[in-house]
Amino acid sequence: MYNFAGIIINNEVTSLDRVFTYKIPEELKESIKIGQLVKVPFGNANKKLYGFIINLKEENEENIKLKNISSIESKEPVITDKDLRLIGYMKKKYLCTYIECIRLIIPTGIMKGMKPKTTDVVFLSGSGLKGSLRKDIYKTIYKKVEENNGVYNRSQLSKKFNISLSSINTMIKHGVLKISEKTLTRYDNRVYDSYDEKKLNEYQEEAVNRILYSNKKKFLIHGVTGSGKTEIYMHLVKNMIEEGKQSIILVPEISLTPQMIERFKGRFGLNVAVFHSKLSDGERYDEWTRVKNGEVKVAVGARSALFLPFNNLGLIVIDEEHEGSYKSESDPKYSAVEVAEMKSKIEDCTLVLGSATPAIETYYKALKEEYYLITLDRRADGAVMPEVSVVDMREELRQNNKSVFSKSLYEAIYETLEKKEQIILFLNRRGYSTFVSCRKCGYVFKCKNCDVSMTYHNNKGYLICHYCGSTQRIPRTCPKCGSKYVKYFGAGTERIEREIKKLFPDARTVRMDRDTTVRKDSYERIYNAFKNKEFDILIGTQMIAKGLDFKDVTLVGVVAADLTLNLPDYKASERTFQLLCQVSGRSGRGSKKGKVIIQTYSPESYAIEYSAKNDYKSFFKEEIKLRHDMDYPPFNKLLLLNFSSKDEKLLIKNIQIVGDFLKNKAKEYSNIYILGPCPSPISKINEAYRWQIVVKGDIDYELASFIKKSIYELLKKVYNNIRISLDINPLSLL
Ligand code: ADP
Ligand code: ZN
Ligand code: ZN
Repeated sequence: MYNFAGIIINNEVTSLDRVFTYKIPEELKESIKIGQLVKVPFGNANKKLYGFIINLKEENEENIKLKNISSIESKEPVITDKDLRLIGYMKKKYLCTYIECIRLIIPTGIMKGMKPKTTDVVFLSGSGLKGSLRKDIYKTIYKKVEENNGVYNRSQLSKKFNISLSSINTMIKHGVLKISEKTLTRYDNRVYDSYDEKKLNEYQEEAVNRILYSNKKKFLIHGVTGSGKTEIYMHLVKNMIEEGKQSIILVPEISLTPQMIERFKGRFGLNVAVFHSKLSDGERYDEWTRVKNGEVKVAVGARSALFLPFNNLGLIVIDEEHEGSYKSESDPKYSAVEVAEMKSKIEDCTLVLGSATPAIETYYKALKEEYYLITLDRRADGAVMPEVSVVDMREELRQNNKSVFSKSLYEAIYETLEKKEQIILFLNRRGYSTFVSCRKCGYVFKCKNCDVSMTYHNNKGYLICHYCGSTQRIPRTCPKCGSKYVKYFGAGTERIEREIKKLFPDARTVRMDRDTTVRKDSYERIYNAFKNKEFDILIGTQMIAKGLDFKDVTLVGVVAADLTLNLPDYKASERTFQLLCQVSGRSGRGSKKGKVIIQTYSPESYAIEYSAKNDYKSFFKEEIKLRHDMDYPPFNKLLLLNFSSKDEKLLIKNIQIVGDFLKNKAKEYSNIYILGPCPSPISKINEAYRWQIVVKGDIDYELASFIKKSIYELLKKVYNNIRISLDINPLSLL
């Protein structure tokens, strides 16, 4: 019999990030289990808070007065032993708190006391109509209920068939009708068109066999876009189902397209749960519960689906593993790829990463045989890779072409429209023009809260800051010199749409970016309309770069390839290469050969050169050499310390204290370097100034947690006025 329980309190305050011991009252001893949700009295006021049991003990060493657990809130554990091991790993790796990890594992609904949603539906009691209830009005109601027995609740019946609530109640009172509780499904239980299994080609077949029947556990499928990776995943899932095991398929949030869902639901039906950030608390709770109850065989979802409570996991797939959205930007700042690696070890299951352009770190690991590498060089359905050409926009200027479209892109659009085939135009920037500046004195209109130039949105008619959302009226004159020569520079997707309408007035265009997809279903709507050929040209940001498989797109135009290339970040080349390969992969996916035109001001950049050739290996060679020379990952770790505050003086003074401390400490190590403190590349966001320190080197857990502890100690007095963020191997240093 256990007498004491170790409990994590549901509270985000860092100082409460420890295990609290409570006494187990007699009446709960029989039913208490590790992983259960409980309520406990907390603090001086004994406020009842939710908590999670993470250990049970017979004896307690400390001889202090302990409080009793108040109640058990979940009959069965909501966290498993395996979850606890994963939490232990994440806590160390990402310097986060217990509760931050727990919140990844269980849906928020549970901590709000959410239950399955039920309603009282109306049934026939079986007694038939009797006595005074034989009037016409009751006969009608009787008939309606007979036709929809147990389908509707009282108010739905009343609304749907225009009958009065009081008549229904009368019939219930007389025992003709009865009501009974029914659980409502808040998840998507639509029936999808069946998506038939494809006979694998020899390369796919070999990949599937390798994964299922070799003694290896971790795989990287490096397969060009369209090489049939998704079909491989689906065969693996089918195999798992046959073995009584479950699978998790992670896809980037952004490519959790209707298409992906159609494919999986079309093949595996209600065995599929879908999990992403746009679900409501109720939908999330229901999908989670379905998984917990063993009703689901496969989950398709964004990174959070990794934590779903499967009891016999056989497979984790991470599609487009290089995608930035697998790294969380809020605490815990985890990488889903890293956590999946750990999870697959704990669960003893297979891990498959897939990408046409693997992350440099991942491919490096595969070459060192930490992953078994599977390469697919050709498209699965016999489609050929598109023909890619690069256009030097400086040359266009010299030829006096000031349009956003080069001569060759213009001609290609014209020809494709003539042939009645479809076009995708890609520009990784929304809005009309990206900055507004004075031609006379060079003044640039910046956001008053952020160190960011304002973007002009023509449709809305004002300037918008993409970081804090604040708006400004369109300037007529320069606030600095009063000149009237205020000009708009740099095109965004809105501008491209406008130019196309001017140049090709008959073309039907649709735009997909964050501005046009605010509503929950707008993405699906645009996707379906384009698929049904209601439009000729799709214009969009990186939202359209991946996943989409349209058979009639034969031209992809990259309007400006340089945007990501010029960011002051060590991953800029990698990201540019990946994005260009992904976008190019949208062209020529059907029976007709596709074309890609990449416009750029830096055609000599190796990221652009190799992406045009779709030559991952050469790109990798070049990039890994650079990483090595610069001591960047995968050769070293980075720890980004970002401090921000509205009080600039206080911020600088304190980050310098931390910087001096760290530099002193670094002297004890031969391989730890402190870069900074210096202002962050984006030096102000939302009125808060931003400074950073980058620690580079062989940073292990001991050192990282020492750094974290020291910072909180050094900044104890100003803690409330300075926001501190620690990020291990951050996605970007902006
Ligand atoms: P990827 O995920 O590698 O980009 P997909 O799995 O989307 O590739 O496949 C690309 C296209 O090829 C899809 O239209 C798919 O239906 C088709 N395809 C995949 N495997 C086969 C196969 N074995 N036979 C015929 N067509 C296939
Ligand atoms: Zn001016
Ligand atoms: Zn702003």
